[in-house]
Amino acid sequence: MFINGKWVNAESGRTFPSVNPASGDIIAQVPAGDANDAAKAIEAAADAFPHWSAQTAYQRSQFLYQAHALMMEKLDHLAAVMTEEQGKPLQAARNEVKYGADFLLWYAEEAKRIYGQTIPSSRADQRFMVLRQPVGVVGAITPWNYPISMITRKVAPALAAGCTIVLKPAEATPLCAKAVFEIFEAAGMPAGVVNLVTAQVPAPIGDAFLKDPRIRKLTFTGSTDVGKMLAREAAVQMKRVSLELGGHAPFIVCRDADPVHAAKGLALVKFLNTGQACISPNRIYVHADIIDSFIGELTQRVSAMKAGSGFDKSVRIGPLVSDAALEKVDRQVQDAIAKGARLIAGGRRLTENGLDRGFFYAPTILSGVTPDMTIYREETFGPVAPIISYNDADDLLAMANDTRYGLASYVYTSDLKTAFTLFEGLHFGIVGINDINPTSAAAPFGGMKESGLGREGGIEGIEEYLETKLGGFSI
Ligand code: ADP
Repeated sequence: MFINGKWVNAESGRTFPSVNPASGDIIAQVPAGDANDAAKAIEAAADAFPHWSAQTAYQRSQFLYQAHALMMEKLDHLAAVMTEEQGKPLQAARNEVKYGADFLLWYAEEAKRIYGQTIPSSRADQRFMVLRQPVGVVGAITPWNYPISMITRKVAPALAAGCTIVLKPAEATPLCAKAVFEIFEAAGMPAGVVNLVTAQVPAPIGDAFLKDPRIRKLTFTGSTDVGKMLAREAAVQMKRVSLELGGHAPFIVCRDADPVHAAKGLALVKFLNTGQACISPNRIYVHADIIDSFIGELTQRVSAMKAGSGFDKSVRIGPLVSDAALEKVDRQVQDAIAKGARLIAGGRRLTENGLDRGFFYAPTILSGVTPDMTIYREETFGPVAPIISYNDADDLLAMANDTRYGLASYVYTSDLKTAFTLFEGLHFGIVGINDINPTSAAAPFGGMKESGLGREGGIEGIEEYLETKLGGFSI
């Protein structure tokens, strides 16, 4: 763990293993932090706050520029750590490291643009001035599916704003977090500005963030249930929260779309990270007139996907994160089949050629999916494409919006009017129109409804770490 500028073990001396999900092998033992370690880290971040927040934006930027340069220098190393610990193919890991580094660069620049305002008063002898100031010490909790970029997406804007931070990474990917914090250390961040507490049991760390009044802001990416609990508890001390939670993305292929092009897009985005992404398509609505060519193309692409170790260059499908994750995916698939869905590809755990040592599930296509199936409502987080045929475009928006989630959505159409109607009518924070990758460090990412609160990335991303202060001056 990295606390107050030093690498330390857990106070209890306890450790837990980090496991390679492709082989089941233990990679390393990691400090198992608890409430005491969290308290020390919060103390360090609180002590560092006055000095860090008083640095000029130009000084804070320099650290972020430096961290960005080092991250790009260490690209191969970071990607290899990620592939070993998280399982995604090396090329995908490299892409994620670059995406993660983008946040450092974007917020190095944005730090210098934390503008205030002057407001005209109705009184001649009064002046108003609005100042933006850092919220204070931040507690951050990150997930395992994007184990490096989710760290920089929080740390970079927090530091740019002048906050200090304590981060707890997911228990499945502590080594990725360690590798990122080695970069923060090498970039010369002052002691206590960034702190890392690894833990096998997350609740005591979350609790320490919630109970300690010095933590003024909680930022969380993970499941909706945990996010709601954190938001509820954070209300006790009225801490600021940003939450990036689950999703259930509709992927709409309109009658006027090219079904082959759309199937190509779906094959890319659905199976990215083995479907373990909150913006992964979960309900694929395809117009009945073009569904046959869509499914034909998709099936061909999916049958060519090879599963295995992410270090094998020909592999597209890495392992799932755990046995429990694999069972959940399989339960959803079996439930759909039992309720009448047609299995077109996959639909089983992969065990041949040594894959039984890891958590591999065959890339799967289901058609004839209906609203009574669990997969129609619950987030899948696995390599399963559930397809729904539709006829009546009038019902389309209502069907697509019929979910408690509101993160990402996708539309394929060649008609401008349809594109605008769906862009404006979809209740989702992100809409990709003929675009399967509507994300960037420069753009706001986040969800409506039960997908979360606040946005990460872009100008909005730094707002989450700033207070607004009004000065009224009688002159
Ligand atoms: P997932 O299903 O994606 O693993 P989780 O919400 O369980 O989603 O995990 C996301 C992050 O939240 C991880 O860092 C995990 O350790 C953390 N987490 C899980 N439960 C709690 C909790 N009770 N308090 C604080 N953090 C938690």
